[in-house]
Amino acid sequence: MNVAFIGLGNMGGPMAINLVKEGHNVLGFDLMAENADKAKEGGVSLAASAEEAVATADAVVTMLPNGQIVLSVFDQLLGKAPKGAVFVDCSTIDVASAREAHKKAQDAGMLSLDAPVSGGVGGAAGGTLTFMVGGSDAAFEKAKPLFDIMGQKAVHCGADGAGQSAKICNNMLLGISMIGASEAFNLADALGLDKSALFDVISTSSGSCWSVNNYCPVPGVGPQSPADNGYLPGFDAALMLKDLKLSQDAAGQSGAVTPLGEHATKLYDAFVEKNGVGHDFSGIINELKGQKRS
Ligand code: NAD
Repeated sequence: MNVAFIGLGNMGGPMAINLVKEGHNVLGFDLMAENADKAKEGGVSLAASAEEAVATADAVVTMLPNGQIVLSVFDQLLGKAPKGAVFVDCSTIDVASAREAHKKAQDAGMLSLDAPVSGGVGGAAGGTLTFMVGGSDAAFEKAKPLFDIMGQKAVHCGADGAGQSAKICNNMLLGISMIGASEAFNLADALGLDKSALFDVISTSSGSCWSVNNYCPVPGVGPQSPADNGYLPGFDAALMLKDLKLSQDAAGQSGAVTPLGEHATKLYDAFVEKNGVGHDFSGIINELKGQKRS
């Protein structure tokens, strides 16, 4: 396939390189020369402009920071790609913008998918991402060979916007459960309970969850996690905050009641405000420990 890849950053760069490795013709574009050059080192051909990248594309993959940028890139490129090309937006963006992007694409005679991912930079490099996909069956079938290379699983969640909806529901739960796991280990510590004993109990009991079993926020217990590496990301707390805010925007617009999602957003907001970027989201355990009981 001729694939245009727009946005060759931490995620997009390795995803585009994996498509090249499996024999696709990938023409990439990024506004940041440094990121574009890294992708070029991995075999991605670079276009002089985004318009040039999409001119002969069967598929246009976008991996961009936010919904506003995705919509402006769609406005810029929809008239420049061959009719019937599939636009696959893999960025994590708000549901309303995702639906608007679909409408713009369809009005321009294109197929379209919202296809955010889970799995982070490691999953992007290893081709083991999970794609959560919204859009038509025809669009999904056309893009499936690309998902099969860039990821280990692609779930067709439903119609336009369903991929972004699934992503923010999952990540809202993840943020809440990481705070819950942190509180449990902090309470255990205050009670003088051994952290390994608590891990052994929770990981095989009704409190078990990914945040404890696979990504424990306490160093020295369970499988290796960012806690064993000075809380370097991993999954940056700033990205968790972005996803939590998207979940709260969507809850506000849809009328869903998510009090724990709302509180988790406030806690991560304070954590990121204090520490900036470059800290894994599991580091919130230390923040919570430092807070006085009110
Ligand atoms: P990044 O900042 O490393 O990459 C984004 C790239 O887009 C940058 O290279 C930037 O120069 C480029 N860009 C911005 N505007 C552009 C434009 N108009 N035209 C062309 N290029 C443009 O970010 P990332 O970590 O790769 O994340 C990308 C998306 O994936 C985000 O929506 C993020 O929420 C999501 N995501 C990230 C992770 C992660 O662990 N990093 C995990 C899951 C999902």
